[in-house]
This record gives sequence, C-alpha cells and structure tokens, in this order.
Amino acid sequence: MKKKKSIPDSDPLADGMRKAIALSYRGMRSGKGGPFGAVILRNGKVVGKGHNQVLSHNDPTAHAEIVALRDAGARLKKFDLSGCVLVTSCEPCPMCLAAAYWARIDRIVYGNSRRDAATAGFADDFLYAELAAPLRGRKLKASRMMSQEARGAFLEWVERDEKMHYGPVIEPPVRKRSARV
Ligand SMILES: [Zn+2]
Repeated sequence: MKKKKSIPDSDPLADGMRKAIALSYRGMRSGKGGPFGAVILRNGKVVGKGHNQVLSHNDPTAHAEIVALRDAGARLKKFDLSGCVLVTSCEPCPMCLAAAYWARIDRIVYGNSRRDAATAGFADDFLYAELAAPLRGRKLKASRMMSQEARGAFLEWVERDEKMHYGPVIEPPVRKRSARV
C-alpha cells in the first residue's frame, strides 16, 4: 500500500530530497554541524551539495543551503543560479532564503518545516518573527552612522561603466528606486 503512494524513484526532485536528507544525517553524525543537508539541481542533476558545517568551520553562516549554493557557484563558475532548484532537508532560515533570492534560484523544495526546526531547538521560527517585527521591536539593535561617507561608494558604483549587476531579479519600479540612490 505504502509503495503505491510513494513518489517514483525516477523523480529528480525526490531523488534530490533523498540526497539532501542523507547529507543531513552525514553532517550531523560526523559532528560537522546540525542535521541539515541541501542539494542544488539543474535539469534534474546535482550541481551543488552541502551539509551544515557551522561547528567544524566555526562559521555561523555555513548552513547547508549556503554551502550548497557556494558549491554550485564554484562548479558552474557563475553567481547566477537561475534555472536551478534548491532542495533542502529543512525549510530555509531567513539567511538561506535570502541567499536563494540573491542566487536567483527558481524554486525551493524542503522537507522539515521551520516549526519542525523550532521543535528540534533551532531558531528559524524566531528569526522569521524578528524580520516581521518593526525595527524598534527587534532584539538585535541596529543604528546608522557616517552615511555621507558611506554613500560615496554607491555614487561611484552608479557611475561605473563596467559594473555587473547581481542579486535578485526585481520588478522595474523597485529597480528604478534603488538606481536613484
Ligand atoms: Zn539557513
């Protein structure tokens, strides 16, 4: 009965998810980091993979998705990963979700949810709540200083002829607004 309802073995997404889950076990059991794994798929093939390496690398940003995105960027020799799917064993935290936007990933597929992660003791749910909170209500305080000096680099960037645009593909009205900086 169960076999009839399961996803076919030939499904690239399911195959990618199995790999991501296997990576989550491998990273955790080897003491490299938390139980998270991710792969990047392009045309159904793995072009990047990774598991959490926060502990082994003393790198707070070494989440599975970030490691996998970096691996894909290095392998494909480009920062624009449009056309790719991020398959991850857990719903991405805000950092990794933003990274997927920066990388122009087409689609995200995840296994565990942010609530599952919270149950396991991870802060993903808290971070999503923080980002939704007004600036003054956040635990992490941020303030602005030396804006005039900092702005110079932006002005120079706007004037540069050879600049290469990167980052999320955004709607024209938003792009126009940022171009006026
Ligand atoms: Zn993350």
